[in-house]
Amino acid sequence: MAQAQAAVEKKQMRTPIESGCPDGMQYMHPLMIKNFGNWKYHDRPRPGVLHHVAYSGDEIWTVRVGTQRQLGPYEINLLCDIIDQYGEGHVRFTIRSNMEVMVSKWEKVGPLIQAFNDAGYPVGGTGNSVTMIAHTQGWLHCDIPGTDASGVVKSLMDELYEEFIKEEMPNRVHITTSCCQINCGGQGDIAINVQHTKPPKINHDLVANVCERPSVVARCPVAAIRPAMVNGKPSLEVDEKKCICCGACYPPCPPMQINDPEHSKLAIWVGGKNSNARSKPMFQKLVAAGLPNNPPRWPEVAAVVKKILYTYKKDARDWERVGDWVERIGWPRFFELTGLPFTKFHIDNWRGARNSLNASAHIRF
Ligand code: SF4
Ligand code: SF4
Repeated sequence: MAQAQAAVEKKQMRTPIESGCPDGMQYMHPLMIKNFGNWKYHDRPRPGVLHHVAYSGDEIWTVRVGTQRQLGPYEINLLCDIIDQYGEGHVRFTIRSNMEVMVSKWEKVGPLIQAFNDAGYPVGGTGNSVTMIAHTQGWLHCDIPGTDASGVVKSLMDELYEEFIKEEMPNRVHITTSCCQINCGGQGDIAINVQHTKPPKINHDLVANVCERPSVVARCPVAAIRPAMVNGKPSLEVDEKKCICCGACYPPCPPMQINDPEHSKLAIWVGGKNSNARSKPMFQKLVAAGLPNNPPRWPEVAAVVKKILYTYKKDARDWERVGDWVERIGWPRFFELTGLPFTKFHIDNWRGARNSLNASAHIRF
C-alpha cells in the first residue's frame, strides 16, 4: 500500500507536459460555442461566404480567404489587423490553408471582403470552385523533399485565381502537390507529385557512419538493396535494374541521395478515391510524366493542369467530380479530349504490383 502510494506521488511529481493541439473550443466564435451541434441548415450567399443558421435562430457568416500558405510575421499581422477591425477577432484555418473569418452580421461581410481584397487576398474557395491547393511541407519543414511544394502552389494558384473566386466548375476541385514520391500528398482530383527517374547515388564514405544498413535494406519495396563492402568499409549497393526509383531508401539513409536537379521530375495523377462524389473506390492514374521541376513558376506543370481542368469544366456534367467524369467517358477519351500524349510510361507493368499494392479498404500493418 505504501509502495502504491509512493508510486502515485512520484507520478504526480512528474506530470507530463501536454504539447499537442490545444483545445479548439476556447478560440471559437461565441455564437459557435453557443450553438455547437445545433445547426439547422447552411447555404452560400455568394462565392467565398458560408451562412449557417442555428435552431436557436442565430446566424453566422464565414468568409473564406486564400493565402500564400507560408505566412511570415508581416502577413500574419496584416491579416489579424483586418480581422480585428472588420471581423470579430475570430479566425480558423482549413486543412487547405484557407483562412475562415466568422462574423455575426451580414452587414459586416461586404467591408470584410473589401478589406481582404484591398490587401491582395482573394475571397473564394467554396462550393464548386478550385479551392486552395493542399501541399506537403517542402523545404521548410521536411528533410527529404525534391521540390518546394508550396512554391508550386503559389505559382499555380496565381494562374487559377479566377477559378478560386468564382464557383463555375461542375463540382469542387481539389488539387494537391507533393514534394517526394512516397509519403504525404496525392489526396485530390489532380495530384502533382515528384517523380524520380534515376536510382540513388551512394556516398560510400558516409553510409557506415550514418545508416542502419538492415533497416535500409528492409525498406526497399523491390529488394534492390544489398549490403556490400566498398573500399574496405561496410556500405550498400543498389541493383539498378530492379530499382523503381521510389526514393524510400533516402529518408533512413541520406547518403543514398535521390534528389537530382535534372532527373527529379514532376508527374500528374488524376481521379482516384478522393475524386468521386458517391461512386465506388477507384485508383488515381498517371496522366503526365517527366515534367521539368522548373522553379520558381513551374510553367510546364501549370500548362498541363490547366489543360485537364478546362477540359473537365467544358465536358463534365453538373456535380461530376473529376474522377466521376473520367470514369464515365473512359480513359482513352480523357487522353483524346485533353490532348495529353499516351505513352508506354503510362502502363504499369511492374509484376510485383498485384501482390503488394494496397488494393482493398482493409488497414494493413
Ligand atoms: S511529401 Fe515527402 S518530402 Fe514532402 S513533406 Fe511529405 S514526406 Fe516530406
Ligand atoms: S529508390 Fe526505391 S527501389 Fe530504388 S533502391 Fe531505393 S528503395 Fe529500392
